[in-house]
Amino acid sequence: TPASPTMLDAWEHRVRESADQPFLHSFSETLSFGEVDQQADALAASLAGHGVAAGDRVALYTQNDPLFAVGVIAAWKLGAVGVPINPMNTARELRYHLQDSGAKALVTLPTLWDDVAAEVVADSSVRVTVLGGFLRWQPDGGGIRVEAVPADIGAARPAPDGSVLLSLEDLPRGKRTADRPGTSAADPALLTYTSGTTGSPKGAINTHGNIAFNAETYAQMGGLEPGQPILAVAPLFHITGSVGHLAYGIRAGCPLVLSHRFHPVAVIESIRQWRPVFTIGAITALMAIADSAELQDGDLASLEVVFTGGAPVAPSLSDRLEKVYGSYIHSAYGMSETASPITVGPVGERSPVDPDSGSLSVGRAVYDTELRIVDDAGADLPDGEYGEIWARGPQITPGYWQNDAATAAEITDGGFLHTGDVAFRDAEGWIYLVDRKKDMINAAGYKVWPREVEGVLYDHAAVSEAAVVGVADDYRGETVAAYVTVKTGQSVTEEELVAHCREQLAAYKIPRSIGILDEMPKTATGKIMRRALRD
Ligand code: ATP
Ligand code: MG
Repeated sequence: TPASPTMLDAWEHRVRESADQPFLHSFSETLSFGEVDQQADALAASLAGHGVAAGDRVALYTQNDPLFAVGVIAAWKLGAVGVPINPMNTARELRYHLQDSGAKALVTLPTLWDDVAAEVVADSSVRVTVLGGFLRWQPDGGGIRVEAVPADIGAARPAPDGSVLLSLEDLPRGKRTADRPGTSAADPALLTYTSGTTGSPKGAINTHGNIAFNAETYAQMGGLEPGQPILAVAPLFHITGSVGHLAYGIRAGCPLVLSHRFHPVAVIESIRQWRPVFTIGAITALMAIADSAELQDGDLASLEVVFTGGAPVAPSLSDRLEKVYGSYIHSAYGMSETASPITVGPVGERSPVDPDSGSLSVGRAVYDTELRIVDDAGADLPDGEYGEIWARGPQITPGYWQNDAATAAEITDGGFLHTGDVAFRDAEGWIYLVDRKKDMINAAGYKVWPREVEGVLYDHAAVSEAAVVGVADDYRGETVAAYVTVKTGQSVTEEELVAHCREQLAAYKIPRSIGILDEMPKTATGKIMRRALRD
């Protein structure tokens, strides 16, 4: 099938080709492409009736539920922009996302429509809230429950004054939106908020062209035939999920295996039932599946192509995972601003590892994508040298939502995005990520990259998670501090960890202090927040 210029074209093409074919598997329920299209039509018509028009933002505040797909497609039908929001957000975070995006509509689940959400909506520009029916899985023996929106939910928690509350189930079906706006590749399709690892989350605009291009990247690297299922382990609100699952599924005609939220047992049950062939997820999710007591021989046999992205793969992990999954673990690297990958490790080929740190290469540049490795003055560096990655290509954001200062700072020099990540490239074009530029520690003139020190800490048998930061030091300017959490049933002292580091690291890289924490501070997307540790 030819690549489509917009995701709406891709969707319409898919519905014409595959209306009766499965698109969403959620526990034992299945919705076809045609059924999702009908629901999206009903939702789009209703949103249009409440004044939502081309260019408006539609917030999608759900778990990995069919509702997410219905909501995004409805937004695209109107020429509107989907704004995925993490369902684990606190009221403060939800308020930030609704206010910053200026969303006019909110699509959510009854489980998330509570007094807090209603109060936040009252402080926002949201005029219409739509609740969808939902499927839920209870790990404590409750089994799978299919629930409808409770009839009295609107009476119990009405929408604030000046706004309406609707149930997706009650919307009239079969009504197509009258005036379909002409959507072009340059129009925004999603507003994806970054994880907020280095500062406040910023809204990266992903155009239809950006997403359609990377849906095609996935189609080329995943190699799926229509009908072969994709295991949706990444959250759909994250760029890995919205592009690597949803847009790829639409492009390739492949169903998504959804499991509401990530729980290893629920995911393993869904793998047994739907036998997915492809997945891309965070390394932590792949590990949690591999470590689950529920896992039996053969459970993972259907997974032929397994990708990880979003976070570095500690050297000791890739070997172990390859044994459990029985296939190579490939790496992809990208960010919200790049609509997912700008580098991928080719399928069927084992990616090389960095000879110094042992970490897996994140692959080579995606086709039609230019990568530069530059010094602080923006000059290109030779192979093997550490520098910031700049990227230009059809998947790169045109800018941040209503944040011209950030756009001007991050996208310059003829459209190159400054990724903020430091890497080197070898003679064959393989890219090895070193760390985030902002996190480099300068200890009396010596550069220390936290990820290298973390890799050594992860090698210690008792360490569950590790994070390394620079702290102010009168003598050295900055010095290395580490924080770890300990695996259940294990124990370790600061002295033992320092001795372990001493065996593997030069003196200036050895943490001057190692704090043992009960829990690591994390962003809403589950990334360790070094800035919170520094503070
Ligand atoms: P913020 O921009 O708000 O600080 P964030 O950069 O964590 O947050 P995302 O867009 O979700 O937000 O994540 C992109 C970042 O994740 C990349 O810039 C990179 O640092 C990291 N990353 C992505 N893929 C990989 C990978 N395969 N290996 C290592 N790190 C990765
Ligand atoms: Mg970022």
